[in-house]
Amino acid sequence: MTFFIDLDGPLLDVSDKYHRVYKAVVEELGGVALPKETYWKLKRQKTDLAVILEHSGLPSSTGAVYKTARLERIETPQFLHYDRLQPGAVKTLSKLCGKHDLFLVTLRAFAKVLGHELERLRLTPFFREILSAPGAPQKRHMTKVALIRSLGDVSSDEGIIVGDTETDIAAGKELSLTTVAVLDGIRTRQILEGCRPDYMLETIADLFRHLPDV
Ligand SMILES: [Mg+2]
Repeated sequence: MTFFIDLDGPLLDVSDKYHRVYKAVVEELGGVALPKETYWKLKRQKTDLAVILEHSGLPSSTGAVYKTARLERIETPQFLHYDRLQPGAVKTLSKLCGKHDLFLVTLRAFAKVLGHELERLRLTPFFREILSAPGAPQKRHMTKVALIRSLGDVSSDEGIIVGDTETDIAAGKELSLTTVAVLDGIRTRQILEGCRPDYMLETIADLFRHLPDV
């Protein structure tokens, strides 16, 4: 089988990085950052940025400045340093890659920085190829679709996409892949249920227990 695996969420716990970037930008703009737990809960629920900024003592009109400042930081080594491997991620990849073809599919803007991070985390050898591109602001899932289509024919009964957001599930459905949502990433169960994935797992390590022939 062929696996198309998302990075941020299924393999990496990005909550610390997200909160530190949020905190740095909010403080720079003169606001007061929410504690990590509160911020992460709002983020996972897809709370409007304007509401998060309001809770942080900033007018919603700072949204555009916040977004730009956030994007400037989120893929810098200073903050990528806070990405942590999800428990069981490496073990799962080791088991999968002996039997299946694995492709990493991620919406990162800077391929070179991504390459360094994957080396640092020792994830590179598990994948046949690293597919990465900056996500289009609208229809982000179509960027993932294009990345996967760039490989040529993907047989739908053999392909499985694993991700933690609506982007991954929508991309998988567009390509008629089996869709697997994991619940330890940046979306709540309620949001992911609404995307109607074929499988919902607590973590990527649960693939072996729930999917046939994995
Ligand atoms: Mg993700």
